[in-house]
Amino acid sequence: MTFTGSTADATTGAGTAGGVPSGVCDTSDAVGAPAAFRLLSAIREQLRALGARPGHEQRVLRLWAQALPQDSGRRRLEDFVPAELRAALPALSAELAGLARLRSEHPGEDGSARLLVELGDGQTVESVLLPRDGLCVSSQVGCAVGCVFCMTGREGLLRQLGSAEIVAQVALARTLRPVKKVVFMGMGEPAHNLDNVMEAIDLLGTVGNIGHKNLVFSTVGDLRVFERLPLGRVKPALALSLHTTRADLRAKLLPRAPRIDPEELMALGERYARATGYPIQVQWTLLEGINDTDEELDGIVRLFAGKYAILNMIPYNAVDGLDFRRPSWERAAEIARTLHRRGVLTKLRQSAGQDVEGGCGQLRARAVATESRVVVMPRPIQA
Ligand code: SF4
Repeated sequence: MTFTGSTADATTGAGTAGGVPSGVCDTSDAVGAPAAFRLLSAIREQLRALGARPGHEQRVLRLWAQALPQDSGRRRLEDFVPAELRAALPALSAELAGLARLRSEHPGEDGSARLLVELGDGQTVESVLLPRDGLCVSSQVGCAVGCVFCMTGREGLLRQLGSAEIVAQVALARTLRPVKKVVFMGMGEPAHNLDNVMEAIDLLGTVGNIGHKNLVFSTVGDLRVFERLPLGRVKPALALSLHTTRADLRAKLLPRAPRIDPEELMALGERYARATGYPIQVQWTLLEGINDTDEELDGIVRLFAGKYAILNMIPYNAVDGLDFRRPSWERAAEIARTLHRRGVLTKLRQSAGQDVEGGCGQLRARAVATESRVVVMPRPIQA
């Protein structure tokens, strides 16, 4: 059985409605039309066509998102699931499984594992199983932001992931181990695929059984994110990929990120953090001689003053073909200690090959062989 959806509408929903802003890149040819079934809305539509009522619809999606068989539970399906839907369940399960298949798994030393995931059309993205029941998912194939230190950014955007393809990464991961936290730090900029990411977050934070603060929306910063996130019934935590406090340097490092001044970005993040009760997680890829200077440290202290925020500092991992260097661990630790003394809650993550929690976009290029070590600052963050 093949399920079909409204691809014309779906294209708009997946590709552009919350999609890449004009001026970021021309995606009209690159994105392509999403296939039927990549969208949760298309799946819902098909379920309704098969006679599903809201309860049945939620049940199918819940069992799928939690990687449970569709005949789970004590009650016999015959007693409460319409016959047409019942008959379609095996084919439906096969279609859902086909959204994200495991092509290869690359275990890391710390219990992480990088998954190469094949989508229905043969494209691949990465998901990363993280220690402590976390999962990092991708939201796009490629990325339009073009961060100069990121391999994914070099590819440009190939296509958007549909909301169902995002949830499918979680369903797939849950066939391997429990998943209680989902971070949107894999390939892609979630703000450029906002409709699909928000739809996936809504499902994961409801029937997907992930706590709202354990859903982490990671972005380089986009005004639409700050408008949209507070409106959802599921409000994820927010991670801001800042990397520098200097607007001019940021424009060079993240050439196609929206030009929002770091101070404004932090102020916008702060408003959301106060509203949700979860601190902003500021991501900082530490690049030797570029954003590890005393001037930057002063800037960080200024920017963090009074903010409900945590700084996640990740020493860069050298990538073949990219001309950036990783500072020594001693230097990174010194920076973390200095920031600590100056009142900034900083987590320094050491990674042997790639920090899978913080290294948005490097995931595709690097094998996961990480060991995270956290330097926790004793001073409590200001609530
Ligand atoms: S670091 Fe993230 S936002 Fe930047 S290009 Fe890579 S995937 Fe895109």
